[in-house]
Formats: sequence, structure tokens, C-alpha cells
Amino acid sequence: MMEKLSTENLQERFRAVEENLEEIERNVTAAAQKAGKTRADITVLAATKTVSVEVINHSIEKGIAYIGENKVQELMDKYDAYEKDKAQVHFIGHLQVNKIKYLVGRVQMIQSVDSMKLAKEISRLSQKREVQTKILIEVNIGREENKSGILPENLESLLEEISELPNISICGLMAIPPANVKKEETLHYFSQMYEYFVDMSRKKLDNVSMDYLSMGMSADYADAIECGANMVRIGSALYGARDYSKKNV
Ligand SMILES: *Cc1c(COP(=O)(O)O)cnc(C)c1O
Repeated sequence: MMEKLSTENLQERFRAVEENLEEIERNVTAAAQKAGKTRADITVLAATKTVSVEVINHSIEKGIAYIGENKVQELMDKYDAYEKDKAQVHFIGHLQVNKIKYLVGRVQMIQSVDSMKLAKEISRLSQKREVQTKILIEVNIGREENKSGILPENLESLLEEISELPNISICGLMAIPPANVKKEETLHYFSQMYEYFVDMSRKKLDNVSMDYLSMGMSADYADAIECGANMVRIGSALYGARDYSKKNV
């Protein structure tokens, strides 16, 4: 599903996105400073589900350098039209083995790898297509049933196993903490994730570089940065509330 906009609405959306981006920049800069970092240490990825390519490309013109889709079909529909020389395209959604063939060689990073089965297929196709695929390991930090991500106690062994595979590079960790919980609880999950991130960095595993800790979305990206995130994934705070009712045209 993707929005379809008239020219007039498009200009309005462009202006709104510009204003939102300015606010996000201010918030990210302030949060980075609180964490003893600078704006340059933080990667802002725009979560672009349901957003039209015109609006996405406008945000890229205004400085967004990373975009992420969470559905393979939607990524495929939009892929040719993205301003790809100015922005990296990441996959951030739930991943199925039979869909990996659409991602390898297309996206710069797959942020949602949580099993050896997925990693093996990414590795196999990356070898075949002679590319190196960057991944993050998704952690189910809230131990939620029906949610993607490896449980924390299995993280280290998964990292070790995946690091042995050819043509796949682990670049860090990703998490989506439970939604609709109190702020203190979210902060607790973010801090736990940061501990795992530091722990895994200290292990200095071969072929594993803990460059990115991807966590924090529209409601809590400043908190995530203050807890140690260096990549945040922002959708609605940049593009406005998503409208799932509009059909992809
Ligand atoms: C949609 C999405 C986001 C952004 O969500 P917002 O709350 O709109 O900022 C971040 N990460 C993933 C994996 C998503 O699917």
C-alpha cells in the first residue's frame, strides 16, 4: 500500500516533511550531546513504509541519507524510483527465507536477521551474486512471543556461528522494544540493549564489527540515543501519520 498524492497535497507534504526534519535534527543533536556524542555519530534512517516515492525522494533531497522499508513487496515496487545515489536502502522488517532473493545485491543492509537459517541463505545468495551483504542481528529484547529477534541469551552463539559464513558481515544489533509501555520500561530495554552491544563489542569476534546499535523510533528516538543508540529509525515523526487505507497506485 502506498499513498497517491495530488500536486497540491504533495507541496504541502514536502513542507511538512521539511519542518519535521528540522525538528528531528534539533532533537537528535541535543540527544547526541547528552550522550557525549555529536550529531555526526548518529545515523538517522527514515522508515518509509506507506510513503510515496516522491515524498521519500524529497526527504532525501533535504538530507536523509538512509531509508528503510519493512515489506519486501513494497521495497520492490518502489526500488527503481528511489534516489539511490544519495541514500542507502536498508531492509528493516520481518524476514522470510524465500524473500531473501529479492534483497541480496539490492539493499545495503538487512537489519532484521535473527536466525542461522536466514543468515545461511543470505550468505549463499551473496556468494552466488558476488556481493558482501551487511546485516544487523535483531534482538527480541522484550522477550515477546510472536515477535522477531533472537533472545539475548542466544545472541553470542548466533554471532559466532554467522561470523563463520562467507559474504556476510555483521555490523551491529537492532531492536524493537515492546510498544505501549511506560517510558521507564522502554529506557530499561534500551539500556539493556546497550549493555549487550558493549559486551559483544568487547568480545572482538572475528568478522564482527559492532558499528551500529539501531533502536528508537518516532516516539522515543531521543531516549534511545541517550541510552547509546547510534542509529534511529524514524517514520511518522518525519512523514506524518501513516494512512494504510490508501491503495498503492
Ligand atoms: C515503521 C518502523 C519504524 C518507524 O516507526 P515510527 O514509529 O513511525 O517512527 C521503525 N522500525 C521499523 C522496523 C518499522 O517497521
